[in-house]
Amino acid sequence: MSRRSPLARRLLRWYAFTVVILLVLLGAVLEFALRSLLLEELTRSLTAESRAVAAALAAVPADELQDRAIALGERLETRITVIGPDGVVLADSERDPTTMENHAERPEVVAALSGSVGTDSRTSQTLREPFRYVAIPAEEGRVVRLAVPTSLVAEQLAGIRRVVAPAALAAAVLGVVAVSLVARRIARPVTEATRAAAEIAGGDLEARVPAMTTTELDQLGRAINQVASELGRRIVAEESERRVRDLILAELALGIVLVDGDDRVAYANPAAHRMLDAVPERLGAIAPPALPSLVREARRSSGSLTREVEHGVPPRRLVATAGPLAGEDTALLVVDDVTEARRVESMRRDFVAHASHELKTPVAAIRAALETIRRVLDDDPAAARTFAGSAEAAAERLARIVSDLLDLSRLEAEEGHRERIDLSRIVAEEAQRARPLAAEAGIRLEVSVSPAAVEGDPADLALAARNLLDNAIRYTTPGGVVSLGLTVGDRQATLEVADTGAGIPSRELPRIFERFYRVDSGRGRDTGGTGLGLAIVRHVAERHGGRVEVESELGRGSVFRLIIPTP
Ligand code: ADP
Repeated sequence: MSRRSPLARRLLRWYAFTVVILLVLLGAVLEFALRSLLLEELTRSLTAESRAVAAALAAVPADELQDRAIALGERLETRITVIGPDGVVLADSERDPTTMENHAERPEVVAALSGSVGTDSRTSQTLREPFRYVAIPAEEGRVVRLAVPTSLVAEQLAGIRRVVAPAALAAAVLGVVAVSLVARRIARPVTEATRAAAEIAGGDLEARVPAMTTTELDQLGRAINQVASELGRRIVAEESERRVRDLILAELALGIVLVDGDDRVAYANPAAHRMLDAVPERLGAIAPPALPSLVREARRSSGSLTREVEHGVPPRRLVATAGPLAGEDTALLVVDDVTEARRVESMRRDFVAHASHELKTPVAAIRAALETIRRVLDDDPAAARTFAGSAEAAAERLARIVSDLLDLSRLEAEEGHRERIDLSRIVAEEAQRARPLAAEAGIRLEVSVSPAAVEGDPADLALAARNLLDNAIRYTTPGGVVSLGLTVGDRQATLEVADTGAGIPSRELPRIFERFYRVDSGRGRDTGGTGLGLAIVRHVAERHGGRVEVESELGRGSVFRLIIPTP
């Protein structure tokens, strides 16, 4: 048998308690009513018997009265007493009347003497046991009294009890069994509903309360199931929201750190971990220390504060903004890595300074030449012509710088156009163009190109080839050789420009592709260079997905290679 649930046990206990109380009450009422009924019945039969006895004794002489009373009493199994009008006992079936006291005061006798039927229940003083008395008025002012012990009624009651009690007990037991079955039927679904609710509370949102037979319980079960599915729906919605938020925060380039009211790091996105070299659990442990102070200051001022700090090796510049979240204890720290932006800014500043400086020199030369021309024009036309020549040369230099600067800014700003071209054609054209320059400089130009199909911008590639060729010729002394080669292999085309010129010191090699950088500024300017040629070459290479390489030996010459991937 399954263990009874507390609910079933409680139902059963209350039912049993109620049944016992009801049975006891019913028993008491029944006993009282029956007792009265039996007593009334006894009184009625005693009254009738009294009348018969009075009639039987009416003509009996006084000396025979006692014997007749005894005889009648035995036959009727009743005590018969005959009392005179003065209360004196004349005969008694159980006792010797002479020994008995005057009965005028007995309540039933008092009533009978006054002409009515007298009744009483009391313990007989004579026989010392409870009796029911009925007295009636008889002939000659006498009173005939009949008495039976009330134990008769008690015996009858006991007889009835013997029949009723087992029946009541059987009914009670039957009731308890029935209630126990019903209680269990009610308790089982409640137990199941409780178990399902506990499972739901424990996180199993798939758990459901089974359908129940009782309408109210079934409604309760359905309500629990509804709560579970609603809860599940909300959790799913919240989880997908959180996933989207996490994805966004994970992709964000800004570092985000949430600090709770107890100065614990509640959340840090991947960018924050990257920038701050793993965010620790406590605000105070975050490096650099300027950041925790910034958060605390922002909390105190209840507004957002921004500060730029340096952190890590190599040092990175971080712009941090801290502020409390509206209506929350939590503070938000947003970190932006501005290292690259600052580097670009500083490069631009340097570039502007450099460019202004480079432009100022030819402008000053032009101005000085023009001033001199104005002074000597009348007196010395030959000198004026010379200075006009220098002004022209300076203006040409100015034009070259401006043109290179325009090329550079175009290469930086615009997306180059692409077409399929044969690089050898461009290189051959540039070689052709450089031939008079080389001849003029007393340099032998050797060209060996093979067809190379590449995807690119012909004008830009021509510009790069021209810059490399010009450099080779410019930095090679007369009698030297400049050789131009174009080869294809391993998915790339290589344009090689080699010279037997001055060469470049190896420590300078990493810097020669920077804008305005010259190995020997005096020498560079003498040869008419702008310091932008190799920067242009590098830009063209990178825009084509390629690169530029250099090998050089001081005093022996240099080899530049422009490498462009082939389709
Ligand atoms: P520039 O206009 O001064 O030539 P570039 O950017 O073209 O500027 O070159 C940067 C520097 O690299 C030059 O100043 C020069 O010192 C060095 N350089 C470039 N090409 C050669 C070369 N073929 N031989 C020797 N030095 C060179």
